[in-house]
Amino acid sequence: MAIVSIAVVLVVISVTGSGSGPVAGGDSAACGIEVVFLAGEGFMISCGHSKVLIDALFDLNVPEGTPPRAHGHLPPDGVARLEGASKPFDKVDAVLVTHRHDDHFTAGCAARYMRANGWAVLAGTPAVIESLAEYPWLAGEKGERLVTVDVSAGEVDTLIVDGLTIYALGIRHTGCGSGTGVVTDGTPERSQCIDHIAWLVETDGCRILHLGDAKLAAEEFDRFPWLPGLEIDIAFIPYWFLLQSGGVDLINRRIAPRSVVLMHWNRWNRDSVVEELERNREDLPHAVIFGEAFEKKRF
Ligand SMILES: [Zn+2]
Ligand SMILES: [Zn+2]
Repeated sequence: MAIVSIAVVLVVISVTGSGSGPVAGGDSAACGIEVVFLAGEGFMISCGHSKVLIDALFDLNVPEGTPPRAHGHLPPDGVARLEGASKPFDKVDAVLVTHRHDDHFTAGCAARYMRANGWAVLAGTPAVIESLAEYPWLAGEKGERLVTVDVSAGEVDTLIVDGLTIYALGIRHTGCGSGTGVVTDGTPERSQCIDHIAWLVETDGCRILHLGDAKLAAEEFDRFPWLPGLEIDIAFIPYWFLLQSGGVDLINRRIAPRSVVLMHWNRWNRDSVVEELERNREDLPHAVIFGEAFEKKRF
């Protein structure tokens, strides 16, 4: 008898325009979600028996004498703790990457995490998965523990990993298609039109949405008209949705989450993001901004 191991099932729905997507419902009230902030847009999210890391595995530490990167990131000992998969970063089921910018993903950091963890599935854009090919201990893992997700704007792919149902939503990166130029520093890795995925994760009655570096544009969300009906528990949203005109309205009308985590601020602009949130408190009553690395909140 043939033994078929199905650790991951990737279902390509490729929804363009309105219509099918996740179905509303589920026992949201029973859900208790724990979120651990790492840096930038990096979080570990636990619900029931499931744990995911999103945009958490990157290392922006630079050699001594080099100017530090503006993007928020963990110090070397924090990176070591994370990529060593020591508690509480063990027993993670899925590692999700929104795109291949180095403030969201660096291949070495992710590869070392995957070696230490030993069983998680990592899903990301083609460039993310290809960048892991040079690590010998991940040889042969493509299609098994390394899952390529290739969605264009408006498409949805579905990934089933143990108790998790994970939807990859094709939403473009901020700056892409704005007429401001597609390359920020001359390298393809810094293109604003880089492949980009927003992740919608369902497990044990919890639903969370992580937008990555999503573009603030109604047209990006018009392609997913079913989002507000899902009763998303937490939406992780980049701070420019708060600072730019129309962002708060878009959050409430086109996503309608119960709670919001504002992310991707840095140490220079965090105070102004906090102030702006207080000015918008009436419209975003359940929005929060984390502060310190490894800070934990329950929702
Ligand atoms: Zn980016
Ligand atoms: Zn970014």
